[in-house]
Amino acid sequence: MLDKKLKEQDILYITQRKSEIWRVEPSTTAKNCKNFIREIVDNLDLKPNPEKPVIALSLGDPTIYGNLKTSEETVQAVISVIEDGLCNGYAPSIGYEDARAAVAEYLSHDGVDVRSRDIILCSGCSSSLEHCITVLADGTKNHNILMPRPGFPIYRTLAETIGVTVRYYNLIPENNWEVDLDHLESQIDQNTTAIVLNNPSNPCGSNYSEEHLRNILEIAYRRRVPVIADEIYEQLTFPGNKFVSTASLNSHVPILICGGLAKRFLVPGWRIGWIVVHDETGAFEDVRKALICLSQRTIGGNTLVQGALPCILQNTPQSFHDELIDILHENAQLAHEEFGKIKGLTPYMPQGTMYMIIEIQMEKFVVFKDGLEFAQKMMEEESVFCLPGECFAVPGFMRIVLTVPKDLLYEACGRIAEFCNRHYGTM
Ligand SMILES: *Cc1c(COP(=O)(O)O)cnc(C)c1O
Repeated sequence: MLDKKLKEQDILYITQRKSEIWRVEPSTTAKNCKNFIREIVDNLDLKPNPEKPVIALSLGDPTIYGNLKTSEETVQAVISVIEDGLCNGYAPSIGYEDARAAVAEYLSHDGVDVRSRDIILCSGCSSSLEHCITVLADGTKNHNILMPRPGFPIYRTLAETIGVTVRYYNLIPENNWEVDLDHLESQIDQNTTAIVLNNPSNPCGSNYSEEHLRNILEIAYRRRVPVIADEIYEQLTFPGNKFVSTASLNSHVPILICGGLAKRFLVPGWRIGWIVVHDETGAFEDVRKALICLSQRTIGGNTLVQGALPCILQNTPQSFHDELIDILHENAQLAHEEFGKIKGLTPYMPQGTMYMIIEIQMEKFVVFKDGLEFAQKMMEEESVFCLPGECFAVPGFMRIVLTVPKDLLYEACGRIAEFCNRHYGTM
């Protein structure tokens, strides 16, 4: 025993004497992987005002304040799967057949006919997006993919990690954040291998009309660029705004649709998402096989939630979805009204989702050099934090979440109003 101890110490001593520090180099892939929200937020000096409790209007996790809970049916579905003990083993890497059939049925409405063979289950919608970008774009071939500006930064993370170039197409604020179609088309070249579309949109809260979606898909068809449609906010739209899936439009464009349970069922931590291979023409036959290969890298999603999927999707009452929409819509109306009164800010009324985007007329706040400083000072003085537009590639805007309890949202609006009044036009 003593001998062994000595030996270990010897080895330690020798290693130290060599004085070569052993540092292992991470791969290029890993070094290229960046979280753009974290990079921006971590660089801010966020010190809240100790006199005021913090209100985070920044967190895109609807469960954080405890006011929004998943349905009892969803909870019970997972409990019985655990108790039955039948889903503790490996599932096929693309998911259990029953679970895929349930997703196919859930998505088959408004003339859409999804089959279980079109569904691949993944570890959350982010993982669906990763597979879709990876299957269509090649970092070694100078490929680029198009994504919306403003847009959810994970698309860029996923693309740049594998060496794929990102190009932005603009959204037009005055047109409810519709795609600038000419700009979209001008960004396409022979190396463009996908257009990422996010409808309804994070951070804009927009929900596109059928006509607008047709116009986008017409460009994709004419230029022969497949589409990755991030529809994680499917059906999370406010009264008067019908959600239209890209799958319902018979566009002949091959589309990979990404979705999941995270937002509409309020369980983002459960990590279940899906890909729908929407392929009217057979263009995706090889891609379909390649996606199945890619799913083998992670051996599929969480089996407990997969096992519960049929019950979750079939038994969750419509009233659960309606109540969630009511809460979000009421908060959106409150925020739109309150922000509309604040000097120097212009809120954009969302048509759905859990977010609202607000323009900051930076020229009216000359004390702040940019939106980052604006956000930082608002935290320092009012203990309210919103994500600066820089996180979504649109400086001069900020995004708030609509998932906080209404009284907190109201309180935050009041504090932001005071902050803006205090700094409006000052030198
Ligand atoms: C939240 C979100 C996702 C990620 O969903 P997960 O299932 O939690 O991975 C994907 N896209 C957008 C636009 C989102 O806001």
